[in-house]
Amino acid sequence: GGALYIVGTPIGNLGDASERVRETLAMVDFVACEDTRHTKKLFSHWGFSKPTVSYHEHNRHRRGLELVNRMVQGERIALVSDAGMPGLSDPGSDLVKEAVDQGVPVIPIPGPNAAFTAVVASGIPPQPCLFIGFLPRQSKERKKELTKWEEVPATLLFYESPHRIKETLADMVKVLGDRDATIARELTKKHEEWLRGTLTECVQWFEEETPRGEMTVIVAGKTMQLDTDEKAAEPEEWWRALTPI
Ligand code: SAM
Repeated sequence: GGALYIVGTPIGNLGDASERVRETLAMVDFVACEDTRHTKKLFSHWGFSKPTVSYHEHNRHRRGLELVNRMVQGERIALVSDAGMPGLSDPGSDLVKEAVDQGVPVIPIPGPNAAFTAVVASGIPPQPCLFIGFLPRQSKERKKELTKWEEVPATLLFYESPHRIKETLADMVKVLGDRDATIARELTKKHEEWLRGTLTECVQWFEEETPRGEMTVIVAGKTMQLDTDEKAAEPEEWWRALTPI
């Protein structure tokens, strides 16, 4: 029967594509790609070709219906994005929802993901964490969005383009205050680089260095600061609540 395979592709290093990813792409009837030219490079790396269709931000509604109909008719489709796991700051979640609603099996074939790759090597606690992805492009909306996460006691995971990184870091300092932060640049590629420090130090760094390449930004969460009275009061209150009157 038909099925939807959600296939994780490399975020840089082609060696990160697993055996199972290769087998799945070779086995399906066709591959829905964010950018077919980009994905064809992966096929040629392995020396095979496959029919492809495009599935991206701008055609996802119309194309999504077509794809789900084809799966209902029995076709097996792999969905890939340009990099990493489809659905995470990439088109794909609508198609998954539609497939699930139509009773089409959805099978994830895991691969790299920039946010989780960055957080585990950042030195900032990976748990709990909150994956946010891209922030709005306009400073006003961006600050409004950051305000939502300001009080959250969890590490925050962001994607940002080199064109906006300086403004975004400045907005983070304004809204979140100075916190520990790590910027992972060009993960898994030849020029992988790590910037570890505080948000203010990251801002200072880019006053001298022109931002280049793909970046993931990890920011420490709001630290829990229970005052001592509150801590002391808590167990007693619990105890009282549990004591029969
Ligand atoms: N679906 C992808 C994933 O699972 O990681 C994310 C796709 S999103 C459109 C692309 C953004 O992810 C980039 O702008 C950058 O912020 C981040 N990213 C992707 N590859 C990266 C890399 N090699 N190093 C650092 N960040 C990366």
